[in-house]
Amino acid sequence: MIPLPVMNLPRVYDLHTHSHYSDGQLPPAELVVRAAANGVEVLSLTDHDVTDGLPEARRAAETAGLTLIPGVEISVTWGHQTVHVVGLRIDASNPALQGGLQRLRDFRVWRAEEIGRRLDKAGIEGATAAARALAPRGLVSRTHFAQFLVAAGHAPDLRRVFKKFLVHGKPGHVPGQWAGLDEAVGWIRGAGGQAVLAHPARYHLTATRLRKLLGEFRECGGDGLEVVCGSHSRDDAYRFAQLANTYDLLASAGSDYHGPQNHYMDLGPLPPLPDGCTPVWQAWETETVSESPHA
Ligand code: AMP
Ligand code: MN
Ligand code: MN
Ligand code: MN
Repeated sequence: MIPLPVMNLPRVYDLHTHSHYSDGQLPPAELVVRAAANGVEVLSLTDHDVTDGLPEARRAAETAGLTLIPGVEISVTWGHQTVHVVGLRIDASNPALQGGLQRLRDFRVWRAEEIGRRLDKAGIEGATAAARALAPRGLVSRTHFAQFLVAAGHAPDLRRVFKKFLVHGKPGHVPGQWAGLDEAVGWIRGAGGQAVLAHPARYHLTATRLRKLLGEFRECGGDGLEVVCGSHSRDDAYRFAQLANTYDLLASAGSDYHGPQNHYMDLGPLPPLPDGCTPVWQAWETETVSESPHA
């Protein structure tokens, strides 16, 4: 059990990405090839509420020579807010984790029908069938509804279609009934993984609510905060780096890449973590080879 020499370790991390197993555009193998070509050395595939893309990603990563971190992004309902918790280095074969994810996917099936019923009342027919047809591996996301609505001419782009139809108070909105924060963190940690609160700036919480969320997340065993991500500005990164330290959370970095046509940033080197953060991967780098994560 000889520790790996630090200088030879991979250093370009992207710990938040999606494939067509959830609402990304690319198959896992193509995602991995693109990440490697763009200089990513350690990649996590973190599909929404599903881990079925991991075996394909792992095989492609072996060929491409990059390290694949098995991941997932779990949908959580916290109060009336949906938040996302990324699980890193999970053992995807863990039964409690898989049972939890199955429950969320079952809710998605019902929700897709309900979104369709609501859009139908608003005069837009056939949305559920169209969204399903756009979901190649069966997990239907609001992203697939948004793609259909844009293609049908209801708004010019995804951002505007979300705003017009798919968010709170709009015709196609269905309130979430996702995992509890403690459940999601418990599933991830029970599967040997680390729980990271994803893209915190995206929730637009007041300072008080944000403190409450971070406090509860830490209390139920959360490990890290996504400090650098595709939807964070540099100011966001500095702000959340400070909060990570205040709440004794590790700092993570991920693009939240969804595919070539998405408005989020491309795969590839992200801006560095602000000074003073403890990267979520710091402990990984000093581990011995025999302690490498589950594939
Ligand atoms: P769902 O988990 O099915 O409710 O869908 C949420 C997904 O929709 C997120 O993971 C994003 O990929 C996407 N999304 C949410 N808001 C927007 C937006 N304003 N513009 C584009 N995509 C969005
Ligand atoms: Mn998504
Ligand atoms: Mn997310
Ligand atoms: Mn994501």
